[in-house]
Amino acid sequence: MRAEIISIGDELTTGQRLDTNSQWLSERLLEIGVEVAFHTTVGDNVADNVLAFRQAVERADVILATGGLGPTADDLTRQAIAEVAGVQLVQDEASLAHIKALFARRKREMPPANLVQALFPQGSRPLPNPHGTAPGIDCSIARRDRGPARIFALPGVPAEMQEMWAASVGPAIQELLGQRRVIAHHRIKCFGVGESDLEAMLPDLIARQRYPLVGITVHQATITLRITAAAQTPELARAAMQPTIDTIHRCLGVLVFGEEDDELEDVVIRMLRERHLTLAVREWGTCGLVAHWLASARSAGVFQCASVFPGQQGWDDLAQRQPGDADYLLCIGPSPQPDSPTSAPGNLKIILAHAAGVMEKEFPFAGHPEILRPRAAKLALNLLRLHLLRAADSGTARP
Ligand code: AMP
Ligand code: MG
Repeated sequence: MRAEIISIGDELTTGQRLDTNSQWLSERLLEIGVEVAFHTTVGDNVADNVLAFRQAVERADVILATGGLGPTADDLTRQAIAEVAGVQLVQDEASLAHIKALFARRKREMPPANLVQALFPQGSRPLPNPHGTAPGIDCSIARRDRGPARIFALPGVPAEMQEMWAASVGPAIQELLGQRRVIAHHRIKCFGVGESDLEAMLPDLIARQRYPLVGITVHQATITLRITAAAQTPELARAAMQPTIDTIHRCLGVLVFGEEDDELEDVVIRMLRERHLTLAVREWGTCGLVAHWLASARSAGVFQCASVFPGQQGWDDLAQRQPGDADYLLCIGPSPQPDSPTSAPGNLKIILAHAAGVMEKEFPFAGHPEILRPRAAKLALNLLRLHLLRAADSGTARP
């Protein structure tokens, strides 16, 4: 079963408002195992709406629309669906009574414009909206060569839309599916190589037709592998994912630093805490980003302090590279000149000092300026992580 989501409203096509309904509905559909094949956004124009619904009926089995069900002249979803279904709009008495009752509760007379909200394409079913005046529409559209497509039209107001999903649309789609299915995800976090290098290390795993499905996304040099499996229970879905998880760990080794919501700082703090070690930081090129991340992680008792330096100041005098009171001192050097495509990149220096010695590494400071700083901060944290792993392997957990 394939789904399409149609978001309706001029406020969306003009960029005045972000379409969050599509995101929310996509997540819900994926949870019950329905593939969302298309997101469509269309303004408040009836001909364009008809076009969007016609196209969706051809290419999707379930269509979820939000917006355009209000009482004003720019709310045209019900007309568009009636036209696509080839039927008239007819009044639904129960919906009219509900709308009138809502106004009565608010001690207001129902404006004539709201009458239109009790009109439904003939043969469709109203979807109750307990807290709003716009009921939804559940309408089947016959198709020549296949079974009917099913349109669920919901109000655009996110809170009403979400309530109606839970009460009626979600269960109706579950019923269409025939059996309950849960979709489970597991995220594996990696750092240290580029996306394509990492993909090359996982032969066949990223293939689109593979099951369980493995997706790959990159954010500021952190690569996330997202494994997805569907089964009747969460436990069965997890069991289906386990061999894939094991393969990824086997192929990537220490490139994997964590899972789910783990960030490098969480992992580094955890490792230091397990080993009863403390950390201080001096930052030049990263404007305090490492300190900010560490202080935001659960780092009390592990992360001791940080100094943040502007520009070059103090770097050349870094002769005394003792960790001071902390077991480790992590220094991230001044930023080289920003990367430009025509010149060779400068190197960023990272120094890790501890009682048993000083490690100094240089990394080419190349990439989009937006990600250079977070990438530098992650390189530093990763350097410490790899050092702690090696120290654990060689049995020198304490410096
Ligand atoms: P409507 O049902 O078209 O009258 O929309 C009512 C209100 O819901 C709009 O004014 C928007 O503020 C909000 N809204 C409509 N569509 C969306 C959407 N796709 N995502 C988030 N908010 C929306
Ligand atoms: Mg609207």
